Amino acid sequence: MLQIYDFTYDELADFLADLGEPKFRVRQVWEWLYKKYVTTFAEMHNLPKTLIETLEKTAVLHTATIASEQYSSDGQTKKVLFQLPDGQFIETVLMRYEKRRTLCISTQAGCAMGCIFCATGQMGFFRNLTVSEIVAQVLYFAHELAQTKEHVTNIVMMGMGEPLHNYDNTLTALDRLTDETGFNLGARKTTISTVGLVPAIRRYADEQRQTPLAISLHAATDEERDKLIPINHRWPIAELMDTCHYYIEKTGRRLTFEWALISGENDTIEQARALGNLLHGMLCHVNLIPLNPTSGYSGGPSSKERVDAFQAELAHFGVSSTVRVRRGIDIQAGCGQLRDRVVGKR
Ligand code: SAH
Ligand code: SF4
Repeated sequence: MLQIYDFTYDELADFLADLGEPKFRVRQVWEWLYKKYVTTFAEMHNLPKTLIETLEKTAVLHTATIASEQYSSDGQTKKVLFQLPDGQFIETVLMRYEKRRTLCISTQAGCAMGCIFCATGQMGFFRNLTVSEIVAQVLYFAHELAQTKEHVTNIVMMGMGEPLHNYDNTLTALDRLTDETGFNLGARKTTISTVGLVPAIRRYADEQRQTPLAISLHAATDEERDKLIPINHRWPIAELMDTCHYYIEKTGRRLTFEWALISGENDTIEQARALGNLLHGMLCHVNLIPLNPTSGYSGGPSSKERVDAFQAELAHFGVSSTVRVRRGIDIQAGCGQLRDRVVGKR
């Protein structure tokens, strides 16, 4: 079966032309998909019945089913665990802020990077998601939000998986979602988060794309980062930082660095100083996020005093930072945690 969100507008046009459809159908179908977020072909009621039947026989919209749904106690965060046709699970989280409706989406089932503090890393890698599987997560929530006249305003690729390890599908999905004739989300309202795959970051910089990049640094010395993030052995900090400078030079864009503060581990003044030295004078910002505890790792979040001290130390180096509150801790909204609870470890 064809996965319909794999199509660009032109590919959809070719597909419909092959079925003998007139040209104006293309826009009709495209708008049902990306402006009205239908969940079945039958809802496309300005199409002839015969075309709807052909579409139903040859193509699919949403292939995932909902395995579990959870709301945070304040009702502002909702997490859905989707099951894919081959039995894989992925998670998508909606976070409601005052004006923003931010979606955290997955790009892979599992992850091959094995960061020790991360629930997805702990489960291992299963497979890449297709373009349609990435796009469908967004359209599912767009449809749901539309019922209350709300819209998806931001997308962060911070769910399960390493986006740059599934480079082509991730970037094609972003192209689809930012297409002005379709879903039309501003590229600046999207974010790719990466653990630091050096060659992929270089490629990304060369492609001059609009979607901002966030780098999951989490430690400022190789000794410390090696312990938390196995791929640091392959691309150590100096190499990663060279690539970050290359990205900034090439794109003129500010980089975000993410730092999960782990009590007694990477929240020391020495680490803050080392980070300050690394980032001093760089066009960047740091997001400090107290660790969300996971079942496969004994570390815990830093206390408020440690967080404040860390942030103050960074400020001495002129490095700006924001402390982020992890949303939906009570619903295991951390990356990979709901699957972990519902399905268990492999
Ligand atoms: N693979 C990408 C994107 C998905 S993870 C990456 O690593 O950047 C999204 C973010 O959540 C990353 O910054 C990751 O380090 C962070 N993260 C993972 N597990 C976490 C946890 N238990 N507590 C806090 N942050 C976590
Ligand atoms: Fe993969 Fe990101 Fe989790 Fe590391 S933090 S294991 S790269 S999802």
